[in-house]
Amino acid sequence: MEKREQLYEGKAKKVFATDDPALCIVSYKDDATAFNGAKKGTIAGKGVVNNKMSNLVMQYLEKNGVPTHFVEELSDRDTVVRKVQIVPLEVIIRNISAGHFASNYGVEEGIVFDEPTIEFSLKSDHLDDPLLNEYHAVALKLATREEIETIKTLAFKVNDLLKAFMLKLGVTLVDFKIEFGRTPDGKIILADEISPDTCRFWDVKTGEKLDKDRFRRDMGGVEDAYQEIMRRLTEE
Ligand code: ADP
Ligand code: UDP
Repeated sequence: MEKREQLYEGKAKKVFATDDPALCIVSYKDDATAFNGAKKGTIAGKGVVNNKMSNLVMQYLEKNGVPTHFVEELSDRDTVVRKVQIVPLEVIIRNISAGHFASNYGVEEGIVFDEPTIEFSLKSDHLDDPLLNEYHAVALKLATREEIETIKTLAFKVNDLLKAFMLKLGVTLVDFKIEFGRTPDGKIILADEISPDTCRFWDVKTGEKLDKDRFRRDMGGVEDAYQEIMRRLTEE
């Protein structure tokens, strides 16, 4: 499978057409942004880690009943995926308070919830990804009510599975963002990526941050955190 024309270049990935209209190739970059593009940088080796992690996680989810876009890993940075129409919602699940949850509601980080929470934001760089609820999403025709129900069920299933997967690696899953897409026959599947860019990971023993917060907060050890996740994913 070869790359044809570039369809899109985003902040962290490029998307290419292939000779099969049902498939595209995503190519993971080392570019990093935070605060909706206001902070820019590079994290050496990040694209390789995110490609590998997303692919391992998507294959594990698929085996456990979550339909995903994953088709085939082509190289360190390139993967064939099913081309979908992205539902323009960022779906965020939280198990522990952190980031915007802590700042919006004026609580400290690290409060462990009795049950996970879910929230949606509109995928829109120029509006700064505003939060919205299910009624807003339906009113804006971003998704049907039925699709939202499917998305919620799948998102909580991803949380249960990913939490267990990360725990085996000695990592606590704090929160994460996922995206879904529609296949040409109208099925909702998991798309985009699952990586240290899109999740908060804390070491189970030390609480050390092993994710993009090290970049967002200028904590240093950014590359090392991504490599540590890679090491735990691939060692056996
Ligand atoms: P952003 O658009 O937020 O800058 P990226 O740099 O990650 O993000 O760009 C990847 C783009 O590809 C995103 O807009 C994402 O929604 C989209 N995408 C992810 N998976 C698929 C897929 N299977 N089919 C089509 N588009 C996808
Ligand atoms: N997240 C993401 N992309 C976004 C916003 C958030 O991947 O555009 C992820 C983020 O990495 C974290 C979770 O979603 O794991 C919750 O993020 P939060 O709302 O706390 O916002 P942040 O503080 O990351 O801007």
